[in-house]
Amino acid sequence: MTKHGQNFLIDNNIATKIVKAADLDLVDNVLEIGPGKGILTKLIAPSVNFLTAIEIDKILFQQLANYFSFNKITVELINQDFLKYNISDIKCKFISNLPYNVGTAIIQKILPLQNWTIAVFMLQKEVVERLVAKPGDKSYGYISVFTSYYVDAEVLFDVSSKCFNPHPKVTSSVVKFKNKKIETTEHVLFEFVKHAFSMKRKTILNCISSFCNIPKDKASNILNSCGLNAFLRPNKLSIFDFLNLIKEIKKL
Ligand code: SAM
Repeated sequence: MTKHGQNFLIDNNIATKIVKAADLDLVDNVLEIGPGKGILTKLIAPSVNFLTAIEIDKILFQQLANYFSFNKITVELINQDFLKYNISDIKCKFISNLPYNVGTAIIQKILPLQNWTIAVFMLQKEVVERLVAKPGDKSYGYISVFTSYYVDAEVLFDVSSKCFNPHPKVTSSVVKFKNKKIETTEHVLFEFVKHAFSMKRKTILNCISSFCNIPKDKASNILNSCGLNAFLRPNKLSIFDFLNLIKEIKKL
């Protein structure tokens, strides 16, 4: 993998499709993660009220700063690691061809936030499949439950590795998220989902019994109240099943 996931998009048609998917308006504020050489940045800037772009690489940051100041285009460029960046609570949209090495970490930082509306991200196809997987799918796991809790997700299109320089080893996909604006983060819910997927070959009965440290008959009562079969594996449970279980677990 390249340093900082630096596979630059070189296909202008794909760049236009990504930016278009964010339904930009002149009143929008946009936050772009990893502008790189600016293929998306240059398209976004004239279409919005305010664009902030956060780039970790000092040299790329300097080159972009020179380009935008020379062309008198207003973009707030910030030379920082997005994972350490303090996001203001101004209403915004996110657009990014995400650095693949930290893509999931960035998604986990953004999704629980309240004030954004739409996010359009390009990631490895395999990661996008995990984000949008449904119960029973091969790729269904913790991150799928996390994603479905916070957003409505739609896979838009695939992007061939030939559209980048250097070519990544894998195909990419573009995914669009709409924020459900969930007000509370259910920490216990995600602890439980993590626990369940760490023992995904075990039955949900065993998962509950070990997570709550209760005997199986008590765990079985919880499952009965939620109308769930005790012998199901965690990868068959939807976000709603997990939420129902947590409601019952909290009553213990
Ligand atoms: N947006 C450009 C494009 O589409 O060609 C670059 C995309 S490239 C896949 C990812 C970009 O994110 C690189 O410019 C890289 O330096 C930057 N980057 C990597 N990790 C970052 C981080 N933690 N915070 C901010 N930028 C990061």
